[in-house]
Amino acid sequence: MSSVITLNRAALIENVKFLKHLYHEDIRISSVVKGNAYGHGLSSYIPIAESVGFDHFSVYCADEAKELIKVVQKPETEIMIMGHVDYSDLAWVIDNNISFFVFDFMRLELAIEAAQHLGKKALVHIELETGMNRTGFDEKDLTQLVETLKRNEEWVEFTGLCTHFAGAESISNYLRVQHQKKQYLHMSKVLEEMGLKPKMKHTCCSAASIRLPEMRLDMVRIGILQYGFWPSREIFIEYLKGRKVKIDPLKRLISWESKIMSIKHIEMGEFIGYGTTFLAQKDMKIAVVPIGYSHGFSRSLSNQGRVLVRGHRTAVLGIVNMNCITIDVTDIEDVAINDTVTLIGKDGEHEITVSSFSELSDQLNYELLTRLPSSIPRKVK
Ligand SMILES: *Cc1c(COP(=O)(O)O)cnc(C)c1O
Repeated sequence: MSSVITLNRAALIENVKFLKHLYHEDIRISSVVKGNAYGHGLSSYIPIAESVGFDHFSVYCADEAKELIKVVQKPETEIMIMGHVDYSDLAWVIDNNISFFVFDFMRLELAIEAAQHLGKKALVHIELETGMNRTGFDEKDLTQLVETLKRNEEWVEFTGLCTHFAGAESISNYLRVQHQKKQYLHMSKVLEEMGLKPKMKHTCCSAASIRLPEMRLDMVRIGILQYGFWPSREIFIEYLKGRKVKIDPLKRLISWESKIMSIKHIEMGEFIGYGTTFLAQKDMKIAVVPIGYSHGFSRSLSNQGRVLVRGHRTAVLGIVNMNCITIDVTDIEDVAINDTVTLIGKDGEHEITVSSFSELSDQLNYELLTRLPSSIPRKVK
């Protein structure tokens, strides 16, 4: 195998301890595992997540729920779908007690129909449109919504009332997010006045759970924080502000390593790899590492990326290829074929963080993580 991703269980234990302490005891955490558990790998991540106490997982679509259900081990574990359920998957979803977001009348009618057909209740989270302008019921829909839900009480459980904030990780969205909060609370009150109460209310992703603690309500939907990353630098600063101890409480779970495949010497004045983007200014020793953009090592890291070898931080030379990169090992004495190359993670005193990696390649942490292909083997430490 050309590279391995390792998940550190001890780091997850720390993060869960931190989150449980940060939120109130009786606030439930739904562990968001869409995008192959943010690239960590569902089949490796879920067992350790269950072992540290998570019992509620969220995915985006029914396809992801099908992958998830295969690796869930505990019978009490609940699954929620926050986005797409194809009509053809509705019966499967309902039959497997998977709850799902419903954001328009067509879906609601289809869910009711499928539930009647199965003779089993659909577990529905009503999503409210509060200003993100993606999905959700509008205020003008509420009367008809209440009427439909009441009429079909036998087939629909009002499991949740939810919304999603549009960019709580940045203060530049402050006004918009405040408006969303007001709108959610208002619509929620209107529903209650019409005699409808959800089993639980949930609105917060990671950033909102820190910026809007009053909106944690019954459950928070936490993705990026559990994996040890802040949704943005800004949210990290916001968390630190006013705290005595200014250290990062989160621990990264993920590390990614490959190995040196070959080593050679080149002379001053030669170009390395495709084209002419890297010209050797001196005699150099270079090594080839068998990972490239097809493995999620972005092409924009060409002549920019850094990796660790034998405790040294060293540079990517030339263009990132589909399946390999070339790195500078001139100053690394004793460097040898099969030496570990750390692409993300620690080696000795140095660390390549996902954020430095993603800043250089101009991607979000979120994007970089979820682009790590599922074909890279994962192991748990
Ligand atoms: C992805 C997602 C989350 C989790 O977001 P993080 O920023 O990773 O915590 C929460 N809610 C919804 C609806 C999402 O799509």
